[in-house]
Amino acid sequence: MLRRVGPSLRHFLLERNSSAGHSSCSREAKMSRPVQARRLEGIDKNIWVDFVKLAATYSKGYPPLVKVLAQFFEKLLGRDLDPMTNVMVTVGAYHALFCCFQALVDEGDEVIIIEPFFDCYESMVKMAGGTPVFVPLRPNPPKDGKLMSSADWQLDPAELASKFSERTKAIVLNTPNNPLGKVFSRGELGLIAELCVKHDVLCISDEVYEWLVYDGKQHIRIASLQGMWDRTMIVGSAGKTFSVTGWKVGWVVGPDRLIQHIRTVHQNSVYHCATIAQEAVAQGFQRELMLYGKPESYFVQLPKELQKKRDWLVQSLDDMGMKPVIPEGTYFLVADISQFKSDVPDVPNSDEPYDYRFTKWMIKNKGLAAIPFSAFYSEAHKNNYSNFIRFCFAKEDATLKAANDILQKWKQEKISS
Ligand code: PMP
Repeated sequence: MLRRVGPSLRHFLLERNSSAGHSSCSREAKMSRPVQARRLEGIDKNIWVDFVKLAATYSKGYPPLVKVLAQFFEKLLGRDLDPMTNVMVTVGAYHALFCCFQALVDEGDEVIIIEPFFDCYESMVKMAGGTPVFVPLRPNPPKDGKLMSSADWQLDPAELASKFSERTKAIVLNTPNNPLGKVFSRGELGLIAELCVKHDVLCISDEVYEWLVYDGKQHIRIASLQGMWDRTMIVGSAGKTFSVTGWKVGWVVGPDRLIQHIRTVHQNSVYHCATIAQEAVAQGFQRELMLYGKPESYFVQLPKELQKKRDWLVQSLDDMGMKPVIPEGTYFLVADISQFKSDVPDVPNSDEPYDYRFTKWMIKNKGLAAIPFSAFYSEAHKNNYSNFIRFCFAKEDATLKAANDILQKWKQEKISS
């Protein structure tokens, strides 16, 4: 009987059967349609992988790295993980994201993206033939005149719910968020999780800044919420975790039913990541596993050091009137430039958003680097968010001091003009 139905339907039936038997919790394993994109049909076998697997079963990354990542995430997620089936090493988080979108998104699928977003999500969804559907974090400035925090940027629950439909295949979550530094709360993640379970939607959870969280806040992994493990891919980056961007080591942690399709894309694109970098990252994690939660741990020290830099830049910007939005995480900070329109007058009806022109002017005339905030928005929404720019504070003390000097001088010039 199975032979008479087409391959997709056959797959559909097998998926249904395997998910029904997989877990005692039906919420956990609701996924009723094929998760992989049609482009993977017939290419999920790879001669090299099959034969190497026979000789030694370590095709998803360098064994010491996948092993220690599994051990580490077991601790973080409170569940048993198999290094061979639940972890996949990639060429940076960028490649991890690419593999996720290519593996799971088909022509016509919709993917929800929360704005502002790391810019490659939109293009990667489009490259996979999907349609991005945007939902904004809406700013609610505090009434008491205090500086805004990234926590004041929130999803409207009704608006978020309205974006889910039968066509929705996945949602992209990025917490802590680049560029805002927002760390999603348990309540916010619960809302997203509930909608994912209700509409049978996957979650690509970009958590590359998971260790950069300030003020005693906690990074919560959506995969640990009820019903989410089976539908979530956690994306991580050694570049952010150990401040070694150029090493290009990333990973995806998730259930085998998703990771197996991500592996198909991986083995048909780069196939293998540089061993030397994987060994170095494995050693870093082994050390962190030993020192977990102790004051000597890098994951404990790094946010402390960066929080001081954040506070310093917040102070410096606030002092000169460029109102910073205090980030709860990441090493980015956005600041409101609306008080600076006399320095760089607006050009009505210009195609270029104001923040682009302001940032170019600032780099050329003040020697201070930033990125326009509206670059993190879809074309349709850019102009609503062009009064901010994004700074990075993961810099040497001397560089931060130079930035402070520039801001002070600029303030004096404004006072005397
Ligand atoms: N996701 C986010 C949110 C990022 O900010 C970045 C890097 N800027 C990446 C993914 C890519 O990370 P990697 O350098 O490991 O490729």
